[in-house]
Amino acid sequence: MIPLADPGAAYRAQRDLLDDAMGRALDSGWYILGGEGAAFEQEFAAWLGLPRAIGCANGTDALMLILRGMGIGPGMAVATVSHTAVATVAAIEMVGATPLLLDIDPDTYTMDPDELIAVLEDPPPGLPPIRAVIAVHLYGQACDLEPMLAACETAGIPLIEDCAQCHGATLGGYKLGTLGHAAAFSLYPTKNLGALGDAGILATRDEALADRIAAIRQYGWKSRYISDLVGVNSRLDELQAAVLRVRLPLLAGGNARRNEVADAYDAALADTTLSPPTRRQDATHVFHQYVIRSPDRDALMARLKEHGVGTGIHYPVPVHLQPAYLDRVALGPAGCAETEAAAREILSLPVYPELTDEQVARVCQALREVAG
Ligand SMILES: *Cc1c(COP(=O)(O)O)cnc(C)c1O
Repeated sequence: MIPLADPGAAYRAQRDLLDDAMGRALDSGWYILGGEGAAFEQEFAAWLGLPRAIGCANGTDALMLILRGMGIGPGMAVATVSHTAVATVAAIEMVGATPLLLDIDPDTYTMDPDELIAVLEDPPPGLPPIRAVIAVHLYGQACDLEPMLAACETAGIPLIEDCAQCHGATLGGYKLGTLGHAAAFSLYPTKNLGALGDAGILATRDEALADRIAAIRQYGWKSRYISDLVGVNSRLDELQAAVLRVRLPLLAGGNARRNEVADAYDAALADTTLSPPTRRQDATHVFHQYVIRSPDRDALMARLKEHGVGTGIHYPVPVHLQPAYLDRVALGPAGCAETEAAAREILSLPVYPELTDEQVARVCQALREVAG
């Protein structure tokens, strides 16, 4: 069976480099917020092209820390989408703010900017004022950021980029994560840049915001044992930082290999009844997921499994229909019909740098056989 994801294969392919780096971190005798973490923050900021990056415990916390650092909390709403990892919405509620979930454009599965423009001009009754927007670049591709940035600018509120799935992707030649006010990256093991455990990082060009967040991530300390701000504990450990320093220089090659695999799937799908995912003009895609769509999704999934191809669904239930959120989260005035339709039909194929040419050929052959 070709698994949907294979983080063990990535470890094995880089074992010597990773074991050396982890050994160095272990030998140092310093395990939290030390030299490895500081070096990774600098290297990540330089790679992204922003002055500041701050490591933290995971991608959810990266979003939460940005919101807290901006002073977003109770009595304020944050607009995002329902078609995302639940983490995006969880982060909004972690700071006590109210999520407002908008519908997606069905071609790119990302926020419909017209929905955002509409709710900023004419906020839903009964909702606290919208004080920030989280733009989610889903599956490795940019959302339609330009009109969203313009709408936020007009409204005088910050746009935060959720970059958990788009490390290295660009829009108009700019790296995603550099276009909004601040950006959050998950470094979970299966992300395009992943640790060997939980990790996250956020980045911004706003130095004052970065200073506040650097304090908030460690009990609000500016100097040891003295909390100037009310903080949390969300630190990046040295072992994960050492792993990430090995992997950051390998990211571009990994993304290129993901694109080769995606090109092969695009070509195979040309002989079938299925369509390849839409690629946005003026953007580079990094294929965190390769997502196809079928009204007979469950049957397609079962037949691919018979052919030895593991698949997944990102995500099977929109956030607003999940038990913890059902009937209590606010939606845009038009509801989330496209989100709900997508959740019934989407299917993710295996796409990661360690797939062999032979495995890619087997997936292509299976696609032709089940949907030819
Ligand atoms: C993975 C992910 C997150 C959360 O990251 P964690 O590191 O698991 O906390 C947030 N948003 C999106 C879109 C994600 O894919």
